[in-house]
Amino acid sequence: MPYTRLKRTLAGLGVACMLTLSAGAQTKIVAPKNNYSPADDVKLGREAATEASKELPMLNDQRVDDYVERIGRTLAGAIPPEFQHNEFRYTFDVVNQKEINAFALPGGPMFLNRGMLEAAKTEGEVAGVMAHELSHVALRHGTAQATKGQKFQIGSVLGQIAGAIVGGTAGSIISQGTQFGLGAAFMKYSREYESQADILGAQMLARAGYNPREMANMFKTIEAEGGSRGPEWLSSHPNPGNRYDAINREAGSLRVQGNATTGQFQDIQARLRGMSPAYTAEQIAKGQGRSNPQSTNTGSARTTVSVEPPSSQYRASSPFPFLRVSLPSNWSEVSGDETGITFAPDGGYRANGGRLEGVTHGFQIGVAQSTNGNLQQDTDQLVAAFAQSNPQLRRQEGYARESVGGRTGVRTTLSNQSDITGQPETISLATTRLSDGRLLYLVGVAPQRDAGTYNDVFRRVRQSVQLNER
Ligand SMILES: [Zn+2]
Repeated sequence: MPYTRLKRTLAGLGVACMLTLSAGAQTKIVAPKNNYSPADDVKLGREAATEASKELPMLNDQRVDDYVERIGRTLAGAIPPEFQHNEFRYTFDVVNQKEINAFALPGGPMFLNRGMLEAAKTEGEVAGVMAHELSHVALRHGTAQATKGQKFQIGSVLGQIAGAIVGGTAGSIISQGTQFGLGAAFMKYSREYESQADILGAQMLARAGYNPREMANMFKTIEAEGGSRGPEWLSSHPNPGNRYDAINREAGSLRVQGNATTGQFQDIQARLRGMSPAYTAEQIAKGQGRSNPQSTNTGSARTTVSVEPPSSQYRASSPFPFLRVSLPSNWSEVSGDETGITFAPDGGYRANGGRLEGVTHGFQIGVAQSTNGNLQQDTDQLVAAFAQSNPQLRRQEGYARESVGGRTGVRTTLSNQSDITGQPETISLATTRLSDGRLLYLVGVAPQRDAGTYNDVFRRVRQSVQLNER
């Protein structure tokens, strides 16, 4: 290359660089803290997806599925390298449901309601919702949310994740069917995660060749639907505030790379209009349109566990430097971190890859931050925190005074539905205050039918507690 041409080329590059900079830098996204592995995302998502395909009326129309798949592939190809996970498999399916909704499960499976495709005004709007959903998956928001709740874990929080990111009809159906036994799907993404998914979604849209402003438009469309058609999506994806403006502001810093629009949007909408009406949430809740009519939601097929009764021999243990306690000698420490330690017999818990997923029989000792109320109020707060990952948790009685390690404490009984067996369980909870003001809690978990035996054991364990604080 002659020198003069090289020089001119460099000058040209210089100008281009300046233009890019003056357009303003795009927002940098950092994936939230996550104690789970990408393989956990895959496993959880796969199970919930199997349940979703079984329980929801899938559209099963090749042309519509291909169309959605094509948009999805384009978008998945625009996920920034730092958020790509080799294990993840992005799949895209259409549910024959009227309400506007879409959800994506950890590890990649995405489901779009027919109502979403019908309500969209452009293909870019469809791509907008899909990019938002893909962003939650790529940033691993489901398991990140569970990570936040871990310190208040009684049983499994894994099971809550699908509920957290699905919501609405599908959420409650999936939650009843998975082996994790979610109970009810009432959680939702935090506002912080919502804004991350909006911003990363906008960036992915621009990279893929769609105008990110279309995502903002779609959210307006969803909000405008209101009534029975709007809230499903919004209930699991709350508006983080100024959503429309924030997306458009980000869009201002982005350059749309090419044009990915397929040109098939009108045809697909016409095709959908020609089909018999989609199922409503109410019909689906009654089991209509289910792909597998034989399957049930009753949870009757859940795991049954066989557990050796608690030994009458007790063994001392010191799970924290300041605490000694005696437990049945056939129980061992199955999990622990700085906030809590669990003792359980063989078969009385479920672990996966060394991490505790849930306890059916056992005792947990933990420390929680105090909210500076009195002991009962702090215990109420703790129960409320437990209930976030155990939606069936209910206090069965008032608080009784009980000494814990020689200090004033309170005790109560709670009922819950086991994440593992789906059966009712009884939880004995006692608390006292440590000298630094934090709350020490002692939790015994057993199936309700064995409560008589285990309540005696739990009482004996509590009475053995010795505190040696400075
Ligand atoms: Zn969202």
